[in-house]
Amino acid sequence: MSPVVDIENVSFAYGDTVAIRDVSLTISKGDFLGLIGPNGSGKTTLLHLMLGLHAPDEGTIELFGEPVSEFADGERIGYVSQQATSRGGTMPVTVREAVTMGRFPHAGHAPLSDADHDAVDDALETVDISELADKQVNQLSGGQRQRAFIARALASEADLLALDEPTVGVDAESRDEFYRLLESLNESGITIVLIEHDIGVVTDRADHIACINQELYHHGDTESFVESDALTEAYGTSGQVVHHHH
Ligand code: ADP
Repeated sequence: MSPVVDIENVSFAYGDTVAIRDVSLTISKGDFLGLIGPNGSGKTTLLHLMLGLHAPDEGTIELFGEPVSEFADGERIGYVSQQATSRGGTMPVTVREAVTMGRFPHAGHAPLSDADHDAVDDALETVDISELADKQVNQLSGGQRQRAFIARALASEADLLALDEPTVGVDAESRDEFYRLLESLNESGITIVLIEHDIGVVTDRADHIACINQELYHHGDTESFVESDALTEAYGTSGQVVHHHH
């Protein structure tokens, strides 16, 4: 079976600013990958490359066995960007409408079938926002908004979820609940790629870790990461404060 994401020798620069240098990384079905690295180390850029939002300068990227530039099954991917927590720029749609948009790739046209509406109800229930269905998306809190994005991905039957610091601005309790939701989605078979600056969260929740700073410093299961020197190598000894929850 093809890996979910296959990155081979990828490099990318914004003009003269090198962001990613010769990274190779394979993500298998069912992985819960934590993508970590200091500020400005290329995490968001690598995620955007994986999703086809940038084209690599060098190297190749495949999604589900297809070159990302030719990949046409967008509904298989759910993406929660950093902006998803902020309120600005969202169209005035209700949560139900936003989640229902996730069904259109399957239905092909309106009106949607009963099965489509059931899929929307199920998705709202899974992420526990059924009671918010008729609210406007731009009236939700950051945490509720994340859940709405995930519900849309579930309604579209995404099997890869990519999240970029999804809990920035979310309070500690909701954040914990949010990560439990991600764990249960992962247990149901959804592959997860998570950018998260809190290394304690990543080592607690993810089963694989990729640690980058332009280059890839480590990729492997969480245990091998904890035992490695990748953290100090990638962050430098004078770098950020590092939190260990163990
Ligand atoms: P991270 O997500 O790890 O904080 P980014 O991928 O956002 O890192 O950024 C990697 C590098 O690329 C940084 O040096 C950043 O300043 C630069 N960069 C990011 N986005 C752009 C852009 N749109 N134009 C120019 N430089 C950028």
